[in-house]
Amino acid sequence: STGKPGDLLADLTEAQRAAVTHGEGPLLILAGAGSGKTRVITRRVAYLLQQGVRAGNVLAITFTNKAAGEMRQRVEQLVPGNRVWVSTFHSLGARLLRQYADRLNLDKNFTIYDTDDRNKLVKDALSALGIDDIKFTPERIAGAISKAKNQLLHPKAYEQQAHDFFSQTVAKVYVGYEKRLRAANGMDFDDLLYLPALALRHNEELRADLDSRFKYVLIDEYQDTNQAQYEIARRLSIHHPNLCVVGDPDQSIYKWRGSDIKNILDFERDFPAARVITLTQNYRSTKAILRAAGRVIDQNKQRKKKELVTDNPDGEPVRVLTFDNGLDEAEGAVLRIKETVKAGRFRYRDHAIFLRINALTRSLESAFVKHGVPFQIVKGLAFFERKENRDVLAYLRLLVNPQDTVSFLRVVNEPPRGIGKVSVERLQQYSGQNEISLLTAAGQVQKIPEIKGKAATGLRDFFRLLTDLRTQLELPPHELIRLVLDKSGYRKMLADSSEEDDADRLANIEELITAAKQFHDEDNTRTLGDFLEQIALASDVDNWDEKTDCVSVMTLHAAKGLEFPVVYMLAVEQGLLPHERSLAKDEDVEEERRLCFVGMTRAMKELYMCHSRLREFRGQALYAVPSMFLEELPPEVEHLDSSAARNTARGAIEEWRTRVNQTAQTAGYSSRTPPVKPITPSVANPADGSYAAGQVVQHEEYGIGQITDVSGFGALRKLKIRFAGAGEKTFVADKVKLKVVQ
Ligand code: ATP
Ligand code: MG
Repeated sequence: STGKPGDLLADLTEAQRAAVTHGEGPLLILAGAGSGKTRVITRRVAYLLQQGVRAGNVLAITFTNKAAGEMRQRVEQLVPGNRVWVSTFHSLGARLLRQYADRLNLDKNFTIYDTDDRNKLVKDALSALGIDDIKFTPERIAGAISKAKNQLLHPKAYEQQAHDFFSQTVAKVYVGYEKRLRAANGMDFDDLLYLPALALRHNEELRADLDSRFKYVLIDEYQDTNQAQYEIARRLSIHHPNLCVVGDPDQSIYKWRGSDIKNILDFERDFPAARVITLTQNYRSTKAILRAAGRVIDQNKQRKKKELVTDNPDGEPVRVLTFDNGLDEAEGAVLRIKETVKAGRFRYRDHAIFLRINALTRSLESAFVKHGVPFQIVKGLAFFERKENRDVLAYLRLLVNPQDTVSFLRVVNEPPRGIGKVSVERLQQYSGQNEISLLTAAGQVQKIPEIKGKAATGLRDFFRLLTDLRTQLELPPHELIRLVLDKSGYRKMLADSSEEDDADRLANIEELITAAKQFHDEDNTRTLGDFLEQIALASDVDNWDEKTDCVSVMTLHAAKGLEFPVVYMLAVEQGLLPHERSLAKDEDVEEERRLCFVGMTRAMKELYMCHSRLREFRGQALYAVPSMFLEELPPEVEHLDSSAARNTARGAIEEWRTRVNQTAQTAGYSSRTPPVKPITPSVANPADGSYAAGQVVQHEEYGIGQITDVSGFGALRKLKIRFAGAGEKTFVADKVKLKVVQ
């Protein structure tokens, strides 16, 4: 039984209610962070169902699979017995391509190729054209192809607008890449949007069918849609223009992946009758947090001014924490969290730590372990990216899609079957000449005279193995994995090995089997193909377990749409946030500022923005400058400096400040050169007596450190140095060899 409409609307503001109850026709909701956009979308879906719209006529689109799952569940709670199609654009695309494979002339068993797979094909296409892949790396070319697909440019169209040498090269590779992709029956991520978008554009019958199937389309995080996504949404909303989109232009953070803020403008152009609703009341954060975030985002020039207000209390001041180095910073945050939990103020799970890039997690991990604080790093694919799991998945992919070139090449000699590089090349030639898959070619190895002996037997065995296994495709995924492991000899290879790592590998595969079993137990109608698709389309945050009581660590990008009572943003430094790649262009810095804004507005009660003076990164200790965004914070924020320099040598900190400012001016804000400079040790050793607290020095064994204390005279003169990696050490000044860095 469904509740009364009042239930759905009772705890909404008037503006939110207007959005939820809006009848037919396009609707654009532009609203700030934490103003209830996601809540409105969810409620609107429920409201539509309550009004008698059939669940099958509603399509809701979210930014992650996790958000999709949550929305689906929430709707079912609000209007029980209704299962609405909620998914990401990519999952929607994959589903449509499989469902309409016949009409689109596709093979529905396609493999979804990830970035790695894609780069392999691009590399192959590059070398077939004889292009030097040092000047034009496969990654760079692949990036350009991806962009082209996001703009719905097929190879011909791309070629026509390629005017410089690089684009002309890309145009050539694009053709070869597409050929390889289609021959492998593979789809890259972009295809999942590009092909449906083109199908909807050119196949009016299909378009009309889907338009009347999805009478109501709702999209969350609309500010981050790209052109292909917009095309899909628009084409589904012509006869039934009940398209409802919600977004916040200040939170557009995926320009690098092709998202286009222009889509908001296009919306008003394509749907001139659209009703526009704005929401200005924030329900998430304290006033102090909103003031701080507001000040920062206000620095963006390319922006329509918009205020966020809240009835929430003022709360704790936003705090900027300064540390000596990344290890101190990690420990500082972890210890603070530990104390907060001990004092009973928050639970571990109320805390999140955000980083600009994943590479910074390592020191954080050791701090958590050291202090016994439970944590999880929200990084989805790491597990499936392990070699052994990738191997097993390659077998599975090949079973579902025997044309899958990339997977074939990955496992044809894994475990070793005596098939060498030269034999594989011959096989590739043969398959190319005869336009058959590598697997089919392997089955005809007797027709390839150049492949003999062990290699020929190996290929024949491999072909038989796969043919046998393919008869078992109906088995539940986890049982099939076991069969693959046993029949392929993969398990035996690991079990017989005396290497400790190989025992770990087996354990990892067991974990993969468990994942497959869970997948099957949740819904036993799902196939192996579905399992592979879920893995292929998982984003970082999809594997986040929010039920366990532990601190969550994630990138700023992954944090989008989430909220936490207490947030720590680490390494808020020039070169990381804003990222050094962005510094050349104002518009890129503005995107970084939006990213900073997204991070800050995740916080409900307390926000800590941390930076350190030395940053160990890519194996180097870098002299780090505080982020320009910290300078933009209002004066009311509290600055806490827990660096050794402050504690041991008062003068040093002033000196440091001056230096930071100088560096900031020369290297950061105005000139836009990368401000985080590697420390280049000067050559001379200082004469005795010239050491002073606050100096940054380099030690042969311990690397970069900062002198925290100088005591005694002559032969008794001692130095205390705090190293970025090794902690604090004491030396005799006369004996120690140091280079003064700063
Ligand atoms: P973001 O921009 O970060 O995606 P959002 O606009 O989607 O944020 P929501 O996540 O929907 O905002 O809502 C933010 C918080 O405010 C949530 O905890 C939500 O439950 C709460 N909230 C939203 N509207 C109301 C309301 N009318 N009354 C009470 N709480 C509300
Ligand atoms: Mg939201």
